[in-house]
Amino acid sequence: MAVPEGEKGGGKDKKREKREEVKECPECGSKCLVRDYGKAEIFCADCGLVIAENIVDLGPEWRAFDSEQMSKRARAGAPLTYRIHDKGLSTLTNWGSPAQGQYKLKKWQQRTHIANTTERSFIFALSEIERMSSALKLPVSIREAASMLYRKAMKKHLIRGRSIEGITSAILYITCRQYGVPRTLEEVREVSRVSQKEISRAYRFLLRELDLKISPASPIDFVPRFCSMLGLGGDIRAKAIEIIKKASEKELTNGRGPIGIAAAAIYIAAILNGEHRTQKDVSDVTGVTEVTIRNRYKELSEQLDIEVLL
Ligand SMILES: [Zn+2]
Repeated sequence: MAVPEGEKGGGKDKKREKREEVKECPECGSKCLVRDYGKAEIFCADCGLVIAENIVDLGPEWRAFDSEQMSKRARAGAPLTYRIHDKGLSTLTNWGSPAQGQYKLKKWQQRTHIANTTERSFIFALSEIERMSSALKLPVSIREAASMLYRKAMKKHLIRGRSIEGITSAILYITCRQYGVPRTLEEVREVSRVSQKEISRAYRFLLRELDLKISPASPIDFVPRFCSMLGLGGDIRAKAIEIIKKASEKELTNGRGPIGIAAAAIYIAAILNGEHRTQKDVSDVTGVTEVTIRNRYKELSEQLDIEVLL
């Protein structure tokens, strides 16, 4: 039964309102949500997930957008999108030829066309997974798991009508998380051909459609890689992890994104071990804004009674 137009629209609006009530990031639990007036979207200042798009007025409690974050996000770059066009399906109804033989031929051509399109898009997807994995220096096990997840999505017909680049980027992001070697959205975006918004959208879509439950990443998961990217050794890595554990015991990590916590803990640990890295150095590597690093660092050092001498 068709739902009357009016009712259908009403339901949709209600759904949208509900989604906009979100007060924390569903991805990392951070309460640092930012409303971007220009793009009419809400994103998480900690992990960069785009939480809602096409937003309407949300009221006054939304914190002001700071210009530094604006410029950081604005660099997200223009996507170069390659879509597989499926001409066969859209023109299906135009083939009403009376000659049955011709009809059958067309039918067969359609099928082959669809098979070829699917196969071509699958090959392209695998090559994208391979290309991005290699740029992100991911082990073979993760590439294989990502390819399998892609195949699963394909079998459920989740790819049709979507950009393969968006889906493959989201799949890599998911797989890294599942394997305990999380990459930040920013890192995936850097090797991807699509924007952070598109990756976020594909990510939310896949989680929902594949019914995937992914527990929030722990700040500790990010520490080894960030430290090595900053040229910091084992002592500092251990110290940063110790800080994170203490912070977590005191529940200082609640409502804070894991990447921001990791960044601040590393920043503090480096100073304590006499290897100072600037907030900008840490920001460049982690993708967390300097403002966020400064805020987390102040919270952590104050609450944990750590004396940081610059
Ligand atoms: Zn987040």
